[in-house]
Amino acid sequence: MSSEPVFASMPDANGYFGPYGGQLVPPHLKQAMDDINLAYEEIRQREDFQAELASLFADYVGRPSPIFHARRLSEKLGGAQIHLKREDLNHTGAHKINHCLGEALLAKFMGKKKVIAETGAGQHGVALATACALVGIPCEIHMGQVDIEKEHPNVTKMKILGCKLVPVTRGAATLKEAVDSAFEEYLKDPQSFIYAIGSVVGPHPFPKMVRDFQSIIGREAREQFLARHGRLPDHVAACVGGGSNAMGIFSAFLNDGAVRLVGIEPAGEGVDRPGRHAATLSQGKPGELHGMACYVLEDAEGNPAAVYSIASGLDYPGVGPQHSYLKDIGRVDYQSVTDQECLEAFMTLSRTEGIIPALESAHAVAWAMRAAPALGREQHILVNLSGRGDKDADYVARLLGL
Ligand SMILES: *Cc1c(COP(=O)(O)O)cnc(C)c1O
Repeated sequence: MSSEPVFASMPDANGYFGPYGGQLVPPHLKQAMDDINLAYEEIRQREDFQAELASLFADYVGRPSPIFHARRLSEKLGGAQIHLKREDLNHTGAHKINHCLGEALLAKFMGKKKVIAETGAGQHGVALATACALVGIPCEIHMGQVDIEKEHPNVTKMKILGCKLVPVTRGAATLKEAVDSAFEEYLKDPQSFIYAIGSVVGPHPFPKMVRDFQSIIGREAREQFLARHGRLPDHVAACVGGGSNAMGIFSAFLNDGAVRLVGIEPAGEGVDRPGRHAATLSQGKPGELHGMACYVLEDAEGNPAAVYSIASGLDYPGVGPQHSYLKDIGRVDYQSVTDQECLEAFMTLSRTEGIIPALESAHAVAWAMRAAPALGREQHILVNLSGRGDKDADYVARLLGL
């Protein structure tokens, strides 16, 4: 497909991946985003910063995460070999710690007084509170009251980790209101505060920065796979919410035209049921959301649609601008998996390999289970197992009456 420089130089200086991305924000916020971009471009080239991040990845997160050959699962399916990149083994249980550490270090470098973010199910909140505790910078997380009541273990962890948890009671009191509330706090003083976005979304430079922090997944995986098999995988699959774990692993394979990249979106209760899925790339169209141009799921009035998935980390009506671009040029194939398929994959992986995946990650496993039987045994599918399922275990047990 395309040659190296095309992907290596993305995004352009204005934060665009083709027609997607940019900084669709008011002027004073654009200034704050440009400051963050300048600071980021400075530290990413500094050896002391890269050395500090590398040592935290090794000694704190536990990197490199291994690749595990799921032999029993592959055998059961009777086709392609399935391998798992074990981001579930990271400290705090998912890939999110990779970019949260990067963002916390950047905040410290910029002399910011406070890191602000929203959280839905609490995964981003816990990872960020962890990184801020480690780096020693105050952290304020906004969370809808409804989510606070639903996600008790994460709420407790954030409190223990010392972050300030701000309950948001307005409107539906879930993720959208938490974003609005966190953003209002940030706007009070964008020079002293930093808003730590939790995926490859939002205005430039966040899609680039979060991708770069997550690209450690792909660099490790490519090297590990080559070292063990003397070749690259035939397929690399990852679930897509905002798209950070997927960009993290895809980034190292974009120039390997023979490697098929597959992003898996949540089909929820079916892509034909508006409001009951979050398959943005499969069902949406180009639009604008949260300061960026990207694919968006819209309702009849042209507002961001209500979205749903069994995996709360995947229910977002937008998606990263780089994914939007990769879809249009056909470099990544975006497919979707229903709640039902996700649950089957969750149970099957648990019982054939003794690995309980996050419901988000189970979407990627479900796609591999769908694809493997039709492929030859000499084919290899590498699945990014973005997180572990401890957080989902009680919920699934109740749902299935275990
Ligand atoms: C948050 C989360 C996701 C979705 O976020 P992306 O930015 O799309 O990666 C996926 N898996 C896990 C385990 C998560 O916690």
